[in-house]
Amino acid sequence: MPTELRLRGRLFLDAEIHVLTGLHIGGAGGKVAIGGVDSPVIRDPITDEPILPGSSLKGKMRSLLERWGGYEPNHAIGQARIHVCKTEERYRNCPVCHIFGVPGEISFAYPTRLVVRDAFLTDGSREVLRRADTDLPFTEVKWEAAIDRVTSAAVPRQIERVPAGAVFRAPRIRASDASDEAHGALMVYHIYFPQDLEWFDHVVEAMGLVEDDYLGGYGSRGSGQVAFRRLRLGHKIASPRTPYPEDITWLGDPSPDLTEFRRQLPELLGQIRPLLSSG
Ligand SMILES: [Zn+2]
Repeated sequence: MPTELRLRGRLFLDAEIHVLTGLHIGGAGGKVAIGGVDSPVIRDPITDEPILPGSSLKGKMRSLLERWGGYEPNHAIGQARIHVCKTEERYRNCPVCHIFGVPGEISFAYPTRLVVRDAFLTDGSREVLRRADTDLPFTEVKWEAAIDRVTSAAVPRQIERVPAGAVFRAPRIRASDASDEAHGALMVYHIYFPQDLEWFDHVVEAMGLVEDDYLGGYGSRGSGQVAFRRLRLGHKIASPRTPYPEDITWLGDPSPDLTEFRRQLPELLGQIRPLLSSG
């Protein structure tokens, strides 16, 4: 890693994630689910509410961006294969490896630029789901006919899903109030070089790819369609050897949806660019 590496600041992208069709992000076994469904969703062990793990969203964004860009999936991570630049020369110009990261054993890499937070039910969504008579706490159970490949018999299977209409958001970080400012941002993007700012639109592009695809399981059968709403961009950028800013500087009002946000993005990045050239 080069010695002149300096964190110049961070971008903050906040958004609500609206569940448009029932969302199934599976839990990894462990505690037997309430009601004993075949395929339970992942829940917060303390509150028992379903959560949307940042790793699920980030992984989907990466794989769709890799596919769209035609990046070679040349590296095995568990069952999945991802693209990883194995030479410094290739890595230097690769937005995917910079934004989403490379395995720790690759010595020439800079720190991963993008952090995606876990998202939780909004207060409003929690209330709606609590009052609704859902099959399980906060969730619905969908019966699916799985076809036994040997006997061709239809085997009924219970899939647990977060119902359409649920809204997820990054956790609240300020204790004092319930305003937007009390929330952190869904995504945090680190800026080490001016080039990083120019690569940020790949993050937003990947979110667009996710909207046209799905999150979690059973997507080809209709589950997991999501939309990003109320998006806004902010930053903490400061000159060298000045204190790290306490508050995020938010730029403008939230955009109602991703299409509108993408339309505004060049202008927003244009406001940030001069801040990076000073110092
Ligand atoms: Zn790469």
